Amino acid sequence: MIDCGEGTQTQMRKYNISFSKINHIFITHLHGDHIFGLIGLISTMVLLGRKNDLHIFSASEIQKYLNPQIQFLYAEVIPFRIVFHPLNFRKEQTIYEDKKVTVFSFPLSHRIPTCGFRFEEKPKLPNLIPEKIEEYQIPIRDRQRIKEGGDFVTEDGRIIPHTELIINKHPARSFAFCSDTRFDESYIASVRNVDLLYHEATFAEDNQKLATETYHSTGKDAATIAKNAGVGKLIIGHFSSRYKDHTIILKEAQCVFPNTEAISEGDVIQIERVISR
Ligand SMILES: [Zn+2]
Ligand SMILES: [Zn+2]
Repeated sequence: MIDCGEGTQTQMRKYNISFSKINHIFITHLHGDHIFGLIGLISTMVLLGRKNDLHIFSASEIQKYLNPQIQFLYAEVIPFRIVFHPLNFRKEQTIYEDKKVTVFSFPLSHRIPTCGFRFEEKPKLPNLIPEKIEEYQIPIRDRQRIKEGGDFVTEDGRIIPHTELIINKHPARSFAFCSDTRFDESYIASVRNVDLLYHEATFAEDNQKLATETYHSTGKDAATIAKNAGVGKLIIGHFSSRYKDHTIILKEAQCVFPNTEAISEGDVIQIERVISR
């Protein structure tokens, strides 16, 4: 989960997202609209009898906000451990890694220390093409080696390059999340070539000055980051409530980066591998 605003629990119930599946929460920064849902979420996890550790990646000050609330509500210890992982707000850092994914944090430019996050899927081994196994009678003992990049030598000594024998069904994908931030070229390197970029676009160009003053972005800013970073697709959100209709923000973004979509509540976005690396 990235950030945890006030309505998080309600929305999770509405869209049937399991509480027990949330094991890692990445908090960009400590403004209320990004953390007010945390204590409610933790309380629900206590009620549900959670046992697994809950990992929170955030500015370390979050403990000053959360711990007193937890102590006030639960005099005894809660049945699971909350593990806090402090973020580095000066440079990019690897903050999490498992068999499937690596997560990086990188500094953004907001009124208080803020990080964006990049999720990189690890490449999976390709599959062997069944017809090729048949055609060249590839023995089982050779198959793993070919998946890992080796060529196949037939009994009569012909070398069949592995590229002819495999199909990559699961290309590794990447996703980056940038909120809240004002336009700043310093984090372009951290989102370069991601398949999907979520970037805040609080304002339209009519409020460019206000965007800079409040350390937020316009749709055009978000699109300029997407364009300069060469990302596959851009999703924008975090629209100011002053815009009854955010079409204007979307249109301004699409002028700079056509493959832009505006996010709405409940949207499910499939991350597709579009960038070849
Ligand atoms: Zn903020
Ligand atoms: Zn915000």
